[in-house]
Amino acid sequence: MFKKVLVANRGEIAVRIIRTLREMGIQSVAVYSTADKDSLHVQLADEAVAIGGPRAQDSYLDMNNILSAALLTGAEAIHPGYGFLSENDMFAEMVTAVGIKWIGPSSEVIALMGNKAQAREAMRKADVPVIPGSEGFVRDIEAVESVANKIGYPILLKAAAGGGGKGMRFVYHQDELASQFADAQHEAQAAFGDDHLYVEKVMTNVRHIEMQILRDQQGNIVYLPERNCSLQRKNQKLIEETPAVGVSEQQRAELGAISKRAVDAIGYENTGTIEFLQDESGHFYFMEMNTRIQVEHPVTEMLVNIDLVRMQILIAAGESLQIKQSDLRMQGHVIEARLNAEVPETGFLPSTGTIDHLFWPNGGLGSRIDTGIYEHDQIKPYYDAMIGKVIAQDDNRTLAIQKLRRLLAETQIDGVQTTEVSNSICYMMLTLLRVILIRLILKMSFCQIGKSSLRRVTMGAAHQFKNEPSDAAKRVPDGLFVDCPYCHTHFYEKQLGKYKVCPNCGYGFRLTAHERVAQVLDDHSFVETNAELSLQNPDFPGYADKLHKAQRTTKLRDAVMTGTGTVKGQAVAVGIMDSHFVMGSLGTIVGEKITRLFELALQEKLPVILFTASGGARMQEGIQSLMQMAKISGVLARFQQAGLFYLVVLTDPTTGGVTASFAMDGDVTLAEPHALIGFAGRRVIEQTLHENYLMISTS
Ligand SMILES: [Zn+2]
Repeated sequence: MFKKVLVANRGEIAVRIIRTLREMGIQSVAVYSTADKDSLHVQLADEAVAIGGPRAQDSYLDMNNILSAALLTGAEAIHPGYGFLSENDMFAEMVTAVGIKWIGPSSEVIALMGNKAQAREAMRKADVPVIPGSEGFVRDIEAVESVANKIGYPILLKAAAGGGGKGMRFVYHQDELASQFADAQHEAQAAFGDDHLYVEKVMTNVRHIEMQILRDQQGNIVYLPERNCSLQRKNQKLIEETPAVGVSEQQRAELGAISKRAVDAIGYENTGTIEFLQDESGHFYFMEMNTRIQVEHPVTEMLVNIDLVRMQILIAAGESLQIKQSDLRMQGHVIEARLNAEVPETGFLPSTGTIDHLFWPNGGLGSRIDTGIYEHDQIKPYYDAMIGKVIAQDDNRTLAIQKLRRLLAETQIDGVQTTEVSNSICYMMLTLLRVILIRLILKMSFCQIGKSSLRRVTMGAAHQFKNEPSDAAKRVPDGLFVDCPYCHTHFYEKQLGKYKVCPNCGYGFRLTAHERVAQVLDDHSFVETNAELSLQNPDFPGYADKLHKAQRTTKLRDAVMTGTGTVKGQAVAVGIMDSHFVMGSLGTIVGEKITRLFELALQEKLPVILFTASGGARMQEGIQSLMQMAKISGVLARFQQAGLFYLVVLTDPTTGGVTASFAMDGDVTLAEPHALIGFAGRRVIEQTLHENYLMISTS
């Protein structure tokens, strides 16, 4: 079993996880933003590490800081809670890569379920009923039309990489299809950098039913009774209950069997929740899967008397499930209300400030409060407005609802406003339930929490992690992390993304010519020209060896690659200098290839895009190398006189004669952020001026 677990979250879920860790005798490590330094989860944990500023992206979403905190405190596992990084497959991969156990499914499974279209296909293959719609992506309007003719309008266009309603469009009639398709594609591209769409039938009069499963590393599965979370406002659940009204014993077993097929098919590990829609005739359709613990998990815990967080930790530690499906007993009915710090009168805008007075209705059978707040605590504007959950369990639904009403009536939270659920929105039960906050005369103080076990690492230390990531890096395997040469921030290699850009400062990492072609030109459009040109009989001492070595590593004959291709369909001539080949220095071959590129473009009337990366003239070729600048300038003059377009992209580093000549003659000149641009090489300037070099750094 783990000795120490880091909880990568805040608020009520962090508190809830830390409590189970303490009961299991496992040390807990909290992480917190500067805004949360006095928060309950920080006070309850055995250790707490500051990870950054108030904004979530500076702290609870900062993967490197959280990973550093785990490595420095020696945590063996990370519990992500819900929200924040809990469904971030990159973070799960990073955690696993440094030898820390991720309490949840594998990063591959998280990624699969995160792509809605791929998840749908995986489920269809596993014989799980999905909402009628397209098979995989739809690439054009004709494809959408043929799906719509089969399933009937209205249909829903959805972004494959989607979430939060972005790239989603309802289409009620064929006439609207073309414009809605274009809009959805455009919005999906803008929001996710991916314009793949798929189609689903619009389902009306449906219930939101979800199944919680547990699956251990040995493949044993238990499914837990369904929850009904149909009562939502703007896709946020307000009330959750279990079991669901309208789901029979037989349907529950059917849902269980479907869920089992679904998780077996993808090799799922740990807890997860499969969300279904149930239509009027009682059929279930897969909607999506959440690969983490859910906000509403306490209703299930109280119904079947199982601590789900404990089960998560046991499964992550490799233990087999000790419960069997046949052991499960449902104890009546459980219902939960979420409390949000929001002002109903303003359309539920968040309410922030100090809690002057707080009273929870503690005590009594079948009641539970999950919260991260205490009296005199601050509700911060930076995070989710949910401040707690009130849960009631009783013999049947009516009694459970009555109990929940009683609990809510006693609850007092003064200083901030909390949600008042109006009785107009619930299609099933709001006539029975109204959340009312009554101010009682009774005043009680929240008991003080002992701080004796607390070893809090100060903010100073956390800043150290950020500035000196090498402490953490020393303990991680080679090759997983890279340093940004400009801002020196440490990154998981994959965080650079396909454009190889520093996520912190925007510096463009040095690319090879082949990488640049793959990034800039349309797929399979590049045709290389003069690839075979290479220097014959180099006579400078050691130069032949140097060239052979560069040719082997870069798979180029010299320091520039030239050719033609298309960029978004536009034909171009393109030249890419590669700094990996003898510092991208300008020799006779480079000069000849660039000259021939302009001649070709002149002949075919193509625009030229030139990516420069060069340390200057190639000293091994002496005067020959210096003559190349004049040669290129000559053909460039003819090219520009012909009225053709020349775009220069200065990449890191562009120095020396290249900067002094053709790199500065573009009709448009772009430079990558923080690229080093200089008129002479660093050494030349330093030796000439006898002082520190002076360079331009673009920003
Ligand atoms: Zn950087």
